[in-house]
Amino acid sequence: MEPFDPQVAVVAVAEAVKAQSAQVVILSQSANGRALLGRLAARLDAGSVSGVNALPAVASGFQAAKPVFGGKAQAIYTLTSPIKVLSLAGNTLQPEQTGAEAPVEALSIALPASRIQVRSVSKVEGTVPLPEAEVVVSGGRGLKGPEHWGILEELAEALGATTACSRPVADAGWRPHHEHVGQTGIAIRPNLYIAAGISGAIQHLAGVNSSKTIVVINKDPEAPFFKAADYGVVGDLFEVLPRLTAAVKKYKENRG
Ligand SMILES: Cc1cc2nc3c(=O)[nH]c(=O)nc-3n(C[C@H](O)[C@H](O)[C@H](O)COP(=O)(O)OP(=O)(O)OC[C@H]3O[C@@H](n4cnc5c(N)ncnc54)[C@H](O)[C@@H]3O)c2cc1C
Repeated sequence: MEPFDPQVAVVAVAEAVKAQSAQVVILSQSANGRALLGRLAARLDAGSVSGVNALPAVASGFQAAKPVFGGKAQAIYTLTSPIKVLSLAGNTLQPEQTGAEAPVEALSIALPASRIQVRSVSKVEGTVPLPEAEVVVSGGRGLKGPEHWGILEELAEALGATTACSRPVADAGWRPHHEHVGQTGIAIRPNLYIAAGISGAIQHLAGVNSSKTIVVINKDPEAPFFKAADYGVVGDLFEVLPRLTAAVKKYKENRG
């Protein structure tokens, strides 16, 4: 369906739910998923929770959990309606192979005509806001000062990433406060988080440890961040970042 029209999609999904007598519907917490969630819940007379970050618990009732207050607390919702609709925050669960069959069944559903007409499309240039960014390149006090941020921004540009920073960096005015991630900043869950010159204090990790893949660049092999990293580079960021940027650019050139 292009463009995505939630008023049409909701009919398709609701009819499929009824045809399958489904009791739980899980959407992704994407822009489309968000547009669908409330409409679907209303149509199915279902209880709904958006942005859950774990599989629902079913031991006593049906409970769905989601982070609130920027990830600083967890709210637990008990849903009592026969049908439940959830949307799942990105990178919450990793896919697992179970070997089970997942047959695709064709359903014949009469859909209403879309009432949306696209007259023009204007794309916003610039980087993706941090909460939605899939790739984030972040810097800490190891960068030594705002004048060195260029090497980090070059890597971010090569990767199409959004930039972030640790709290002391924002407190010192090296970077704007809206870039500060962590317990007292923004909680993010990108597919890739590259941290350069950040020690990995628990308050920083609180906002970034839902990232799918974490790459840490630090000259201190004992930096706590390495314990949370999927990949670690022990080295001077002033050497590593430009080489990483060059490697990304070369890879993109070769790919064409
Ligand atoms: C209540 C509370 C809330 C907080 N909330 C947050 C928060 O939301 N977010 C947050 O980030 N912090 C938060 N903090 C602060 C946190 O405890 C740490 O002090 C902070 O994260 C450290 O920032 P940093 O890693 O940039 O600096 P540092 O701890 O100074 O670490 C700098 C790192 O850079 C490395 N380094 C230095 N030079 C180089 C080089 N040339 N190449 C490679 N590596 C190098 C060093 O080895 C070191 O590991 C909070 C603290 C408190 C008490």
